[in-house]
Amino acid sequence: MASCYLCPRACGADRSAGPGLCGAQERPRVAKLMLHHWEEPFISGTRGSGAVFFSGCNLGCVYCQNHEIRDGGAGEWYDADALSGAFLALQQSGAHNINLVTAAPYVPTVAESLNKAKAAGLSIPVVYNSSGYELVETLRQLDGLVDVYLPDWKYVSPLLAKKFSNAPDYAEVASSAIAEMFRQVGELQLDEDGLAARGLAIRHLILPGCADDSRRVLDEIVTRFPLSIQVSLMSQYTPQPNVTEFPLHRKITAREYDRVISYALSLGLYNILIQQMDAAQAKFTPQFTDKI
Ligand code: SF4
Repeated sequence: MASCYLCPRACGADRSAGPGLCGAQERPRVAKLMLHHWEEPFISGTRGSGAVFFSGCNLGCVYCQNHEIRDGGAGEWYDADALSGAFLALQQSGAHNINLVTAAPYVPTVAESLNKAKAAGLSIPVVYNSSGYELVETLRQLDGLVDVYLPDWKYVSPLLAKKFSNAPDYAEVASSAIAEMFRQVGELQLDEDGLAARGLAIRHLILPGCADDSRRVLDEIVTRFPLSIQVSLMSQYTPQPNVTEFPLHRKITAREYDRVISYALSLGLYNILIQQMDAAQAKFTPQFTDKI
């Protein structure tokens, strides 16, 4: 990879020589493989989602709950064959799906590994779990390989996107990326067990003191997608010890959360997944210090 332009950062890094802005080097690095029980019920089910946590992230939010791996410095190196084997091993262990978490810097190898795994018997749905900060051209490499897209839509405000993720163009980039995801897979479809089989579910994490922007995110969603679109409104924001930016030092309040839910309902959205307020606990954040 002489110069990488896989994501909107377009940093042009020669990843064979060193990491790009996302922390990714040439080969995929995986920080953790696990059966994840704390995703949405239609993803985790009863046996867990087969999560593959990639190391490195092209968005790099200051409040990241996975900060151990955000910078790309943790995990084991994989090639396409090894990744394909990992997907099959997760299927064998009972995972309801393969859940690719922040795979954006590695999409060409991930696509190759999915093709190999499917040829070798991978039959469970493939979930692409994304920050939303993605290029349409890169996502097209996954067309026909991903069954369920699970993108964040974090901000509309360029000021918040700049302050918290150093990505003032986040809203326009995410809007185009999520539209491409919707083009590929359509609305969320559940199987007879209530598990995601195909489609799009948009996540929005409500940040403390930022409920006005949450309402603007919902405005954008109803402008671009049917009112039946699946939206997951997340209350789980948990302050990290290293985060000092105001107002990120606290959890959201029940009042903030209720106001965003009420607004979503007032817009006519009706497939809304909400969380209990006690979801904002560190114990629900995977630990990356364990050996894979
Ligand atoms: S994926 Fe990483 S290396 Fe490639 S353009 Fe984006 S930030 Fe740079």
